[in-house]
Amino acid sequence: MKSTLSKQEINEKIKEVFSKNASREDIRKIKKLVSSKNIKLKEYKNKFCKKCFSLFNSNNSKIRIKKGFKTIICKCGSISRYKLK
Ligand SMILES: [Zn+2]
Repeated sequence: MKSTLSKQEINEKIKEVFSKNASREDIRKIKKLVSSKNIKLKEYKNKFCKKCFSLFNSNNSKIRIKKGFKTIICKCGSISRYKLK
């Protein structure tokens, strides 16, 4: 992956990766890319585990919604909390 991608190209790449069934490796790469360019993942950031980079699905995670917060518990044990809008 080139490091000379523009922000526009990176955003396209993010969309592409999350529109398919992204692998842990894909997510790891994207994460590295956005952090190097200071780009926000926005709505995609709660679609995967920040610890093991697995894309959340009904097989590997549990979702709880409580008091305006969405809690996602990954099978790796990582707990992610997001404020609901
Ligand atoms: Zn995980």
